Amino acid sequence: MDYFYCGFFLLLGCVLGSFYGVVATRLPKNESLIKPRSHCEYCQEELAWYELIPLFSFFIQKGTCRHCNQKLSKLYPIVEISTGLLFLFAYLYYGISYSFFISIILSSLVILIFISDMKYMIILDSPLIISAFSIFFLKCYYFDLSNAFFSLLEGVLSFFTMYAIGKIGNVLFKRESLGGGDIKLSFLFGQALGIQMAFAAFVLSTFLALPYAFACLFMRNNHEVPFGPFLVSALWIVFLFSEKFQNVLEVFFHI
Ligand SMILES: [Zn+2]
Repeated sequence: MDYFYCGFFLLLGCVLGSFYGVVATRLPKNESLIKPRSHCEYCQEELAWYELIPLFSFFIQKGTCRHCNQKLSKLYPIVEISTGLLFLFAYLYYGISYSFFISIILSSLVILIFISDMKYMIILDSPLIISAFSIFFLKCYYFDLSNAFFSLLEGVLSFFTMYAIGKIGNVLFKRESLGGGDIKLSFLFGQALGIQMAFAAFVLSTFLALPYAFACLFMRNNHEVPFGPFLVSALWIVFLFSEKFQNVLEVFFHI
């Protein structure tokens, strides 16, 4: 363990987390990433450059606007510190390696999809496309071209499996059961995990979503349950513990 790298990845996570917060709250509303500059949602005053430093305004100004003293949204500091901790965790768990970079990509998706799908019921296309390209190039670099292409095929297979499950669900429940974003996201399941582990991750995601779905049902909260956050969490968890999941599959299914 190297303290320099620990600090570096924690900081990098906080900075990127700040960017993810902007991406996941602006792009679903078709707003520009650059204009308007970040501002206080109460008095509309633009934030100064030093207030854009992750966590800075939260600690120095105790999370209030320096013009109107209203409390600023806690979403941004939470997103910044969570991304920082996920990046630090990836470094401590893997060191700098293939798995580290994949873990960085997946934790970034966890953050982005949690915000955009919970808040707007949208999974953005651009982070999925960037992730797919990044995984392809990482596989080329750390393994070889045929490995990278084979994983694309596994992605396609996983995509169409989810597409078919969605279609069956539509007939059974007589309404859209899986969103387009969920199906697009499932491409990354096959590409990042391989088809067997992708299957394990799908199963895990439904178990993760059940308590939330029941809670919504119990509170007679009729709004749709976003599935993306559970899918992407399962993807990240199964990648993290892929060896353990592999052992379970071997014991129970002999594969
Ligand atoms: Zn203000």
